[in-house]
Amino acid sequence: MEQMIVPFYSLEQTNAQIHQEIKDVFERLYLSSHFILGKELHQFEINFSRFLDTKYALGVGSGLDALVIALKSLGIGVNDEVIVPAHTFVATFNAISLVGAKPVPVDADLKTYNVDYETIEPKINKSTKAIVVVHMYGLSVDMSSINLIAQKYNLFVIEDYAQAHGATFCNRNVGTFGNINATSFYPTKNLGALGDGGAISTNDVNLYEKSLLLRNYGSKEKYKNEIIGLNSRLDELQAGFLNVKLQYLKDWINQKNELVNVYINLLSDLEEIKFSDYNKDMYFHSYHLLVVLVTNRFQLVEFLKSRGIQTQIHYPVPPHLQECYKFLGYNKGDFKNAEYISNNALSLPLFVGLNVPQIEFVCKTIKEFYTMK
Ligand SMILES: *Cc1c(COP(=O)(O)O)cnc(C)c1O
Repeated sequence: MEQMIVPFYSLEQTNAQIHQEIKDVFERLYLSSHFILGKELHQFEINFSRFLDTKYALGVGSGLDALVIALKSLGIGVNDEVIVPAHTFVATFNAISLVGAKPVPVDADLKTYNVDYETIEPKINKSTKAIVVVHMYGLSVDMSSINLIAQKYNLFVIEDYAQAHGATFCNRNVGTFGNINATSFYPTKNLGALGDGGAISTNDVNLYEKSLLLRNYGSKEKYKNEIIGLNSRLDELQAGFLNVKLQYLKDWINQKNELVNVYINLLSDLEEIKFSDYNKDMYFHSYHLLVVLVTNRFQLVEFLKSRGIQTQIHYPVPPHLQECYKFLGYNKGDFKNAEYISNNALSLPLFVGLNVPQIEFVCKTIKEFYTMK
């Protein structure tokens, strides 16, 4: 019997679907020779702000830069503290550190992998300036709970929605709840460029204008530098590619949701595997990744690999236990749920173009592993 190979991720199908449109963008821009801050970016910013239903969107160089610019636009820096989920990709922590502020981690909820709201208030003090929330793997945080806490203590809210383009909370898109919000167009994200890219979104004209300056050497007018800025502009090619891909985003997310339902139907009776648990009437999950909690993770990974099934782990070491954050002084056990997720989470193959027989094969192989034991 021929061995079925199930890759963890592939852009093959979506890339093929838009190949001609992408070539057209390249051709048009190549002939125009206009590569930075032009019509494509302007159009993308209009399209993306309409998609989100927010007043302003601003293309920048990466998700990390988007977070840095968002924090700087709020004036957050040295001597400030920023609440951040302990379970996130390290970029969220890095951005806070890069502006000179101190990341103050709070633990995760095992049902959603998002922040555990109960853990936030005890960490707030006079130095706390903002809460950064991260919509992990495509599931929105409960933004009503966050905004209540933020109002009570007069804190800014920044959404890191790098993993959640297209996700909603109470029918409203993520990226529209915080004071200013940051996302990434890293190629494997739900909306991915053909290289690095990111964006900021806000309804606040002052934060928008500050961010415009920050992304371009603090300058609105050539050679007039009002503040110290970065060079972080979403380039014309990436903006052009993203204009193409944005048209397909909803369809692609819906396709991924259907594939996830196949997994859930086949695996939900298995005690050893837990899917995220949330209220479908309040949240639309955009499934950047399909992350489950499993028992005997490493043996399972090896067993799946031996059958040609690729998986990944997001994220094996939480930021507070990374070498670069030793100086914060945390130890193993300080954020039990975040560490539990790091030790037990497994990301299953999920991408547009994955087919139902492949998912059936993955699920059958997982069941085989657990009945063997
Ligand atoms: C991908 C990601 C980022 C960083 O995006 P880059 O474009 O790679 O800089 C930030 N936060 C989260 C949660 C991410 O997943």
